[in-house]
Amino acid sequence: MGDFDVDLFVIGAGSGGVRAGRIAAGYGARVAIAEESRVGGTCVIRGCVPKKLYVYASRFPDHFADAAGFGWNVPKATFHWPTLVANKEAEITRLEGIYRRNLANSGVEIIDSRAVVEDPHTVRILATGARITARVILIATGARPILEPAIPGGELGLISDQIFDLAALPERLLVIGGGYIAVEFAGIFSGLGVETTLLHRGPHLLRGFDEDLRVGLEEAYRERGIELLLERTIERLDRNGEGVLATLSDGTRRSFSHVLVATGRWPHTRGLGLEAAGVALNAKGAVVVNDYGATNVASIFAVGDVTDRVNLTPVAIREGHAFADTIFGDKPTTVDHATIPTAVFSTPELGTIGPSEAAARALYPDLVVYRTRFRAMKSTLSGRNEPMMMKILVDPATDKVIGVHILGEGAGEMIQVVGIAVTMGATKADFDRTMAVHPTAAEELVTLRTPVA
Ligand code: FAD
Repeated sequence: MGDFDVDLFVIGAGSGGVRAGRIAAGYGARVAIAEESRVGGTCVIRGCVPKKLYVYASRFPDHFADAAGFGWNVPKATFHWPTLVANKEAEITRLEGIYRRNLANSGVEIIDSRAVVEDPHTVRILATGARITARVILIATGARPILEPAIPGGELGLISDQIFDLAALPERLLVIGGGYIAVEFAGIFSGLGVETTLLHRGPHLLRGFDEDLRVGLEEAYRERGIELLLERTIERLDRNGEGVLATLSDGTRRSFSHVLVATGRWPHTRGLGLEAAGVALNAKGAVVVNDYGATNVASIFAVGDVTDRVNLTPVAIREGHAFADTIFGDKPTTVDHATIPTAVFSTPELGTIGPSEAAARALYPDLVVYRTRFRAMKSTLSGRNEPMMMKILVDPATDKVIGVHILGEGAGEMIQVVGIAVTMGATKADFDRTMAVHPTAAEELVTLRTPVA
């Protein structure tokens, strides 16, 4: 070990890299971590955290509108975008400080620079030109947004990194994409009062999610005034005064003040020196790893979005932890990517675990489906006409619950807790013998008696 400057060099101080570095240092490893942008990575600086803060902001108009039915007279509310942007900035700066302190307190050296791989044991620091040798190198460089496919005028579109800090709230926003990031931003800006259009090339939003969730969310979005343009693509974008003129594949031309392109994220490996070091990448540029995060080069490992498996923060954190346990803690650990609860912070919200009904049918031909659609209690007085939907998928051979899908307020919080039961292998009988908590929306999950299919 003494032949190397450090035991572990981590490239990228995001969710996965920070966790791996801290845990490895805790095992006594000498660790350095390089970050070319801000410590905390995508999730803290330009992903989950600012996104969720903006989701909260976007939901206040619902609360104001719902209040009347409960006797409140809410004077006309006004919204000040620069306050939200400034408060968000203060919060992520606070979190970045915590991340930095936690790394330093764990004994990890932070290097504020881009770093690239020179050979299987050497990293070059671009800011200084220094070369650092390491027994093990961890690639945790994440992913970055791209416009896919490239179109003329594509540079007139914004990527999600930029949308948080616009000088002013857009007037008319076009969001291109059908994944969760596109869906969430459409919900945020619509909630903030922006005239919002969501355009997606597929027939439904949120590919891979349960069909009832997809259709239910589309209905709710339309009801909320979000224009959905499905099965269409953008041919080109042109400058139009202060705004952007979008030419659609159906021949129409539409004008917007801003265009957000949220069509995909690609592994951040370009120019990283991995090819020269002999590390195998797939066609998308993702680092190819085994269950332990090991690449085909013995001293180089990778975790998180750069491996393009399940691109979520808790997964990157778990992979980083498992890597450190395996390599520095002498505890070989893998991560289960099969059963992952997750949420989409649209309004209404989605919470989901396990396969969609269609995917489950392919695995379990006798699949039993329980489903309920109802109006939440709060809606009775508020007059809001947005249904909740809950669905439980059961394998009749074992009675195990293999999937739960929820659409409606609190779905993200609910699926985290239901996720424990599903991960433990709970059966439908276990759900049934769980006492209901009344009155809640979640009690429907333990009172579903009659299958619909
Ligand atoms: P990252 O967090 O991206 O960290 C990689 C770091 O490496 C970055 O800081 C980057 O600057 C740095 N870097 C890259 N190359 C170099 C280099 N050569 N030298 C030095 N540093 C380098 N996930 C959820 O679970 N829930 C959510 O609600 C959620 N919302 C999201 C919303 C948005 C808008 C986006 C974009 C993502 C969201 N995600 C969410 C996904 C989540 O942010 C990622 O899955 C997670 O951050 C991946 O962690 P990571 O460690 O792999 O990479």
